[in-house]
Amino acid sequence: MDSYDVIVIGGSAAGLTAGITSRSFYPEKSVLIIRKEEKVLIPCGIPYIFGTVCTPSKNLIPDALLEKNNIELLIGNVIGIDRNNKTVETKKGDKVQYEKLIIATGSIPAVPPISGSDKENVYVVNKDVDYLQSLLDKIEDSKDMVIIGGGFIGMEFADECKKNRDINITVVEMLSCCLMAAFDKDICRQGEEILKKNGVDIITNAKVEAITGSGRVEGVKLSDGKVIKADVVLIGIGSRPNTQIARSDGIEIGENGSIKVNKYMQTSDEDIFACGDCCEKISFFTKKISNIMLASIACNEARIAGANLYKINRTNEGEIGIFATAFGETALARAGLSLQEAKKNGYNVVIGTAESINTHPGCMPGGKNLKVILIFEKGTGIILGGQLIGAKSGGEMINLISACIHEKMTANNMATFQMGTHPVLTASPVAYQISNAAEMAIKELRK
Ligand SMILES: Cc1cc2nc3c(=O)[nH]c(=O)nc-3n(C[C@H](O)[C@H](O)[C@H](O)COP(=O)(O)OP(=O)(O)OC[C@H]3O[C@@H](n4cnc5c(N)ncnc54)[C@H](O)[C@@H]3O)c2cc1C
Repeated sequence: MDSYDVIVIGGSAAGLTAGITSRSFYPEKSVLIIRKEEKVLIPCGIPYIFGTVCTPSKNLIPDALLEKNNIELLIGNVIGIDRNNKTVETKKGDKVQYEKLIIATGSIPAVPPISGSDKENVYVVNKDVDYLQSLLDKIEDSKDMVIIGGGFIGMEFADECKKNRDINITVVEMLSCCLMAAFDKDICRQGEEILKKNGVDIITNAKVEAITGSGRVEGVKLSDGKVIKADVVLIGIGSRPNTQIARSDGIEIGENGSIKVNKYMQTSDEDIFACGDCCEKISFFTKKISNIMLASIACNEARIAGANLYKINRTNEGEIGIFATAFGETALARAGLSLQEAKKNGYNVVIGTAESINTHPGCMPGGKNLKVILIFEKGTGIILGGQLIGAKSGGEMINLISACIHEKMTANNMATFQMGTHPVLTASPVAYQISNAAEMAIKELRK
């Protein structure tokens, strides 16, 4: 039987990052990644296969990273762990021994209990090259597509599928507006407007009752009786943790169905770690269990798990939750708590808003408005969250806001931190959005 110091199950965002981190912290240890698929998709790039990138084969995580980091690879479907003998077994019958094991088995699409969801041409967001190629082929011949779920994945799919295609696309969302798990209403509405302008139909406050058709999908029936014509349906309502392997030998599962881990990413077995979508998360703010699943969180957890295998080096402080997306030339992003979440969690808050063109002068080529909203706790003045909409540079600015949240900076710290600016790259120092939004909040905090 082959034996490795470290075995990682899963080769996507979390598994790969955990493997690389293990090699970096413990260069003398041998590392094997076992994953199901021959080719691993870049999970966040999946919607772009259907428009911008055009094919699954252009949206792959390069295996060169394994070679570069001296990590061995076994393609196989792990069917169980034997913790007594410290082995894992694949469906093909390969048995491998580990000293330390990292479970990074990710998530699988959630399927709602809607009648007809098993009909032909009804798809979920499976992270599988052939499956997505078949969806792509179907969409090429489709006239009417319905996307169930108006979260950021459903909306990204809608935007991409509409690109360069003569196809009717309808997004059906149960809540009062799309993107509500990520943003406060005002930004959700602006996001919806961009998609509507691009020709996507959006129906909110609408519950899907059934997917209709005899064999093949023909429509989506809403609870008010309305039927939307469809020859292809995509269900994008979220994911659930894939914990089958952990359950195979009694590793503790948390209350929301994900693998229970401590702040060092250790499971109930101290030689087995877990990271990514399959494991439990807690909020950075409330320390309560959180259901957010993001590749950025998965990789962060993987860096902690990989570093802690033989000695505790890193601690997980909980997820801050950074969402970012782009529709056309407009970025929408959030870090930390939204206003509605802050209020729900009992925070008394103050808001500061600032907007400016992201170049100076604003007439520079590529200049685009960027609006930033910062949320601070009243009293302490500590940053709780930020949201922005506008120029694509916002995609990086949100990470800066996240760093401020992580460091528990106050409005005063954020108004006076030393930023760098440049005419082609940023707003002017006079109009720099983060400083000015913080200044606006300070006015309120003083009241
Ligand atoms: C369409 C879409 C868009 C997204 N966009 C973003 C985004 O913009 N930003 C962001 O931060 N997040 C985004 N996410 C979320 C992100 O994709 C996930 O959080 C991320 O994929 C989690 O990584 P993971 O490695 O934990 O799990 P996964 O990506 O689910 O990978 C799990 C791995 O485990 C392997 N595996 C599972 N079971 C077994 C087994 N029994 N044996 C062997 N191998 C096994 C799988 O083959 C796979 O390699 C998006 C998700 C989707 C679906």
